Amino acid sequence: MEALVVESPGRFEVREVEVPRPGRLEVLSRVRAVAICGTDPHIIKGDFQGFWPKAFPFTPGHEWSGDVIAVGEGAEHFGWAVGDRVAGTSHAGCGVCRKCVEGRYNVCENYGRESVHRQYGHYTQGCYATYVVHSIKSVFKIPDQLGYEEAAVLDPAAIALHTVRRGGVQAGDSVAITGPGVMGILVAECAKATGAGRVIVLGRGARLSKVRELGYETVDVSRGDPVAAVREITGGLGVEVALECAGAPESLQWCVAMLRRGGRCAVVGIPLSGVALPIQKMVLDELEVVGVRASAGEMTQVMPLVVDGRIRVGALITHRYALRDFAEAYRVFTERVDGALKVIVQP
Ligand SMILES: [Zn+2]
Ligand SMILES: [Zn+2]
Repeated sequence: MEALVVESPGRFEVREVEVPRPGRLEVLSRVRAVAICGTDPHIIKGDFQGFWPKAFPFTPGHEWSGDVIAVGEGAEHFGWAVGDRVAGTSHAGCGVCRKCVEGRYNVCENYGRESVHRQYGHYTQGCYATYVVHSIKSVFKIPDQLGYEEAAVLDPAAIALHTVRRGGVQAGDSVAITGPGVMGILVAECAKATGAGRVIVLGRGARLSKVRELGYETVDVSRGDPVAAVREITGGLGVEVALECAGAPESLQWCVAMLRRGGRCAVVGIPLSGVALPIQKMVLDELEVVGVRASAGEMTQVMPLVVDGRIRVGALITHRYALRDFAEAYRVFTERVDGALKVIVQP
């Protein structure tokens, strides 16, 4: 089969590799669509080398959909069969540690121990390939109404819903979102779908125009102090919830600064350096800052919201390429050519 193989940081090619075989409680799938994730370029460039992945050569990719073509031992007892249409996600928790038992398999305490845990496309072989093996914990059957391309975006949509949950968004809340990329837009859609009163997206340039086109209130951060702008449009009070999707230290600082007293900030963007936060203000105003890692149970929950159009994943898909043209897909995605948002790769 064909697979994208990253030989060393920044050096990759699409070449022939052996088809993997499904083990116990795993399925082998024919991959139909893969969405390029913002994390993929970091993995390819070696920004998290030694961790994601543990070593090169490596095949990344974790946002995908396809068809089950072989079922490993025991998977049939859980209702899996050849022909199932599926969408994949990256985390397969051990299922036994305290966090997994509590349903928080995204923070499994056996993370990284490959004998009992997987994170596909991060440290376990990913899906930029004709076929991929996944644990049955990491594949979800998709409804007939959902096409493969939309289904490949279910993983980030699930992360967006998890972000909104971690932010504690309540009906009627004012919610600010930093980072108008795919994750920011999906988070805005989920905030609206779960009852936010107002959704304000902060950013700049073409991506912010896209957000405006989708009907959101926006703040252009290139036009003066964004914190002051958010305070002004919220009667001087700030927002109940801020959701940080940019991964930049500065935008996390804005998020904390624009919270209303008692407010909460959930952070899904991963800053590559430390960030100074105003601890005194956080103590005295009872502000909360919480992390968000992937999703935990939201893959299934997000499907009806995508099917009925409340989460418009189709509006985010801008480009399509064959797997053999991955280099071009990667360039268009990383250089944001022609307003690229979600770029789909078809093995
Ligand atoms: Zn992703
Ligand atoms: Zn676990």
